[in-house]
Amino acid sequence: MSAYPHLFRTLDLGHVTLPNRVIMGSMHTGLEETGDWERLAEFYAERALGGVGLIVTGGFSPNPEGVLHESAAGLWDDSAIAGHRVVTDRVHACGGKIALQLLHAGRYAYSKGAVAPSAIKAPIAPYTPRALDAASVERQIADFASAARRAQAAGYDGVEIMGSEGYLLNQFLTRHTNHRRDAWGGSYANRMRLPVEIVRRVRETVGPNFIVIYRISLLDLVPEGSTWAEVVELAQAVEAAGASMLNTGIGWHEARIPTIAASVPRAAFAWVTAKLRPEVGLPVIASNRINTPEVAEAILAEGAADLVSMARPFLADSEFVEKAQTGRADEIVPCIACNQACLDHTFEGRIASCLVNPRAGHETELRYTRTREPKTVGVVGAGPAGLMAATVAAERGHAVTLFEASGEVGGQLNMARRIPGKEEFHGLVSSFERRARRAGVDLRLGVRADVDMLRGFDEVVIATGVAPRDPAIPSGSGANVVSYSDVLAGDAPVGQRVAIVGAGGIGFDVAEFLAHPGETPAPDRDAWLARWGIVDPEMAPGGLAGSGGEASEAERDISLFQRKASKLGRTLGKTTGWIQRLSLRRAGVRMRGGVTYDRVDAEGLHIKGPGGPELIPADTVVLCAGQEPVRGLADALTASGRRPHIIGGADMAVELDAKRAIDQGARLAAQL
Ligand code: NAP
Ligand code: SF4
Repeated sequence: MSAYPHLFRTLDLGHVTLPNRVIMGSMHTGLEETGDWERLAEFYAERALGGVGLIVTGGFSPNPEGVLHESAAGLWDDSAIAGHRVVTDRVHACGGKIALQLLHAGRYAYSKGAVAPSAIKAPIAPYTPRALDAASVERQIADFASAARRAQAAGYDGVEIMGSEGYLLNQFLTRHTNHRRDAWGGSYANRMRLPVEIVRRVRETVGPNFIVIYRISLLDLVPEGSTWAEVVELAQAVEAAGASMLNTGIGWHEARIPTIAASVPRAAFAWVTAKLRPEVGLPVIASNRINTPEVAEAILAEGAADLVSMARPFLADSEFVEKAQTGRADEIVPCIACNQACLDHTFEGRIASCLVNPRAGHETELRYTRTREPKTVGVVGAGPAGLMAATVAAERGHAVTLFEASGEVGGQLNMARRIPGKEEFHGLVSSFERRARRAGVDLRLGVRADVDMLRGFDEVVIATGVAPRDPAIPSGSGANVVSYSDVLAGDAPVGQRVAIVGAGGIGFDVAEFLAHPGETPAPDRDAWLARWGIVDPEMAPGGLAGSGGEASEAERDISLFQRKASKLGRTLGKTTGWIQRLSLRRAGVRMRGGVTYDRVDAEGLHIKGPGGPELIPADTVVLCAGQEPVRGLADALTASGRRPHIIGGADMAVELDAKRAIDQGARLAAQL
């Protein structure tokens, strides 16, 4: 019997049967705008082959005014159908099913043509939208219906109508964004008319044999959000209007509450889906921070939902479902919810990929093909770059030996996993080690490789990583100056008053580590919800109590410094940096830029700021001033006449992160 019996039950929707209860949720990849339909088709085809029950595409606008940005993809023209056909044909040939998401951005559009129920600018968008007049509201309905007809003509198995996350349909629902006094505003019956009419007209257009998913916002997490009674009323109206399934969304994009970041406990919002399920007769889908088959199975087994939707886990591993089904769940490459290569890329206008799987979004170009000329490969350093290079090279058929001077694999990842909110890194390190061993990598832990040891290898890869940079701040007697690596390793005692030199990713991480030490590896869901002010939506509209979150008691008095005068934390991830900044601000961490460091003594850190010299009283000064490459072995090999491949931090320490290291390791190994 399957380890996940609920996950692998079929679902009969009348005209079609889904093979399991797993949906690949909508995720914009950026491939939609390239015009390279082959590449998009290949991306989805790999996921279809991996056994997912139903794929939902990234969002396509039903009309030009609904696009997320001026060059974003839409489906308002019949000429687009042929390209989509390439995708649907390929997915169907792989045995999969695929629905197209219709997304109208409303006031979230990064475009001067943005429209909305009322002319109220979103805090996360640059333009004030134009309020739609009544005739234009009617036209939105017709545009959704026409786009659904095109999706059907293009061979999709269904559409998902995006009604959550604060996009246009959601904007009509709440008084927060809908100040209209006509038939589309005022009473709730009026405010919900647009989404309900869209579902009705789409169903009329596509007929009964087509999946229509409506994505409903269960918790808006913004002021004046929908009440629970309104959510239930809408769900029932959408069901009556002909929806096949209800997907569930949590939090508007403008909400200042994390909903999918790594610090959000797994399945943190399944309880809200469970609350909706008995109110409707159609299948409901749970989403947000579901990243293992165990978590997904538990949601279904508890009766919280009929299906689960996962998006990012399918970037991390296209074979997620197949591995779970065939007793190989321990081979699933876990999504660590970092957003670094997926959502951060999307917001930067780049193709979405995955930190742990650089092939995601690059399927047609980065291929791990079996080698016809097996070589011996010596890799030095089992951090992310070395592990990835060794594993991919071994999977391709090379004989790989991986030397690691310490007693464990993981390198800098072993520091990341000690940070509160980054517990997912634990699973990543162990998954990396299992994958390397399975691929046949000869792992030599506790062995410091030298030139002689590497002599016999056909290829040598140096991934010796980085060492903390010493900014050489003069220190007098009694000064307690430590490096971040010693702090995170637990090797350096840290006092009550702390000054942190350097405010990059590691400075912020160390501040979080020292402010909230000992946070549990499996975060307590209820404590987390309370910390962010999230309550049962029956208690407060939108599920938001007060202003959303509270000050958290820090265990230490912490100050964070940088020399640049710019705002601290600018180099943090686009979609997660605000959470880190907010968390530290709430913990009372002081942040200052535009300083120079004079010296450290027993009293603390002496700096010069705009107001002149200052003493920052501190028991401990922690150096987080970036890193330098560790290249001793690489230089010695070069001096001996060899030409080693140098990757990761050993190659370039500036702005190194796990994403770049893993990508570089994978790309090198694909070519060896
Ligand atoms: P970093 O981001 O380059 O930051 C280094 C910090 O040290 C900066 O604040 C810099 O600011 C300061 N600094 C540099 N040289 C200095 C010197 N000589 N004296 C004093 N201060 C100096 O490096 P990192 O924090 O070590 O992080 C390394 C990499 O890991 C980065 O790419 C980072 O993005 C990544 N990372 C990411 C995350 C994440 O959450 N996504 C977390 C951890 C690490 P000033 O020059 O203005 O003083
Ligand atoms: Fe998950 Fe990070 Fe990959 Fe995005 S980049 S899919 S969050 S592991």
